[in-house]
Amino acid sequence: MRRRRNVKIVATLGPASSDYETIRALFEAGADVFRLNMSHGEHADIAERHAIIRKIEADTGRPIAILADLQGPKLRVGTFANGEEELEVGQKFRLDLSEAEGDARRVRLPHREIFEALEPGSSLLVNDGKIRLKVETCGADFADCEVMVGGTISNRKGVNVPDVVLPLAALSDKDRRDLEFVCELGVDWLALSFVQRPEDVEEARELAKGRAAILSKIEKPSAVTNFDAILAVSDGIMVARGDLGVELPVQNVPPIQKRLVKKCREAAKPVIVATQMLESMIDSPVPTRAEVSDVATAIYEGADAVMLSAESAAGSYPIEAVKTMNAVAIEVEGDPTYREVIEASRGGRKKTVADGIVSAAREIAETTEIKAICCFSQSGTTAALVARERPRVPIIAMTHVIGTARRLCLTWGLHCVMSEAVTRFKGAVIASARAALSEGFAEKTDQIVVTAGVPFNKPGTTNILRVAPCEERLIYSADPE
Ligand code: ATP
Ligand code: MG
Ligand code: MG
Repeated sequence: MRRRRNVKIVATLGPASSDYETIRALFEAGADVFRLNMSHGEHADIAERHAIIRKIEADTGRPIAILADLQGPKLRVGTFANGEEELEVGQKFRLDLSEAEGDARRVRLPHREIFEALEPGSSLLVNDGKIRLKVETCGADFADCEVMVGGTISNRKGVNVPDVVLPLAALSDKDRRDLEFVCELGVDWLALSFVQRPEDVEEARELAKGRAAILSKIEKPSAVTNFDAILAVSDGIMVARGDLGVELPVQNVPPIQKRLVKKCREAAKPVIVATQMLESMIDSPVPTRAEVSDVATAIYEGADAVMLSAESAAGSYPIEAVKTMNAVAIEVEGDPTYREVIEASRGGRKKTVADGIVSAAREIAETTEIKAICCFSQSGTTAALVARERPRVPIIAMTHVIGTARRLCLTWGLHCVMSEAVTRFKGAVIASARAALSEGFAEKTDQIVVTAGVPFNKPGTTNILRVAPCEERLIYSADPE
């Protein structure tokens, strides 16, 4: 199975998408990466979804990435007896530490430190800023608020306090437990919420001990300020627009998104644009024009991936939402303007042999009738560099490391294929030719470009580029060694 687009789709799993049939349908509709949000659901639910994804991977023979999103120091309300309540403008609403389930007049906010930091007049924003509360009176364990902007409040919705600085650690005890749990389970990406400094990323990396790649969610003003240093120590980035648009004026988000996407591409690290992309599809089978335009914009900007949150986790139309993203992606990527923009923005520091080789691979493939660029790598670095080139021809990322194949599912344009471990370059060429044929990228009479690094057991060396025929007999006669 191959995709007809380059941008990747991340789908969050939740109550609307937990059984084998639905997750399989999401995968077939186009989801390349599944996100497990550690803010919602018990470890047992997470383990179950994880097992289903791995089963789908085995059944379809295609690597699939799993991204576990750690809650981080996010404030969340507790649960409601009715699951949700409607808050009307002007009414009073209390937040407190009581363990009792919430109702139309109060709910638990299980963070003692926040009550200490609040003052009369402070604003509280609930559910990515949709509901706004103003503190009237507060004490050590409660805050009585007036509802300034109403709406539906439901179980575990996030709360932001933009005008108060809260003394919170980057990884809570829950995050540490969750991190260990998902790393043992075997996830490919760990997303860190509310990263503020490069040290936050390094702390998580030490705990992950190489078991997962680290993706930093940019949703705090300080993460925007420290972005270069955070990017340098991260393996990937998420532009987490939900909290970002609450912590900063909402109109600041689009320029930040553009700048971050550009920097990630230059660094050859995958970037996800996330939150509210097709928000209306939570309840509607068709998106708004503005949402379609938002997805298209992220793709025109060159993002590696676009993401669905509640649309696929808790909405009524999870599969339609993935299909919509897929259809938008195919249309945008077929637009000549897209190619113009993507090619005009091909930047990045080019200093190494590998940079030269991937750029040559693209030029050769694009100026001739070559059908695919196949790159052999262990760590995935070369494949990421080829993806940064954003070539017109498909890229096949070949590796014998399953973790690498899965992780690269997040990167623009990479079709990942597992191969035997090879020891000689000719073995790599033969494996590439077979993959190009069997995965439907080329015919026997076609040629491919193969890049690799020799010696093979040394990661980080890319030093060979070969134009090769797809027919094995010809590979042997061209290179009898
Ligand atoms: P984050 O800040 O990490 O994005 P979120 O609360 O916005 O957290 P999302 O995963 O972005 O969560 O959106 C998923 C939506 O689906 C949330 O509104 C959440 O209430 C709902 N949901 C319910 N159960 C789950 C679950 N098990 N997993 C994910 N989302 C769930
Ligand atoms: Mg968030
Ligand atoms: Mg969210």
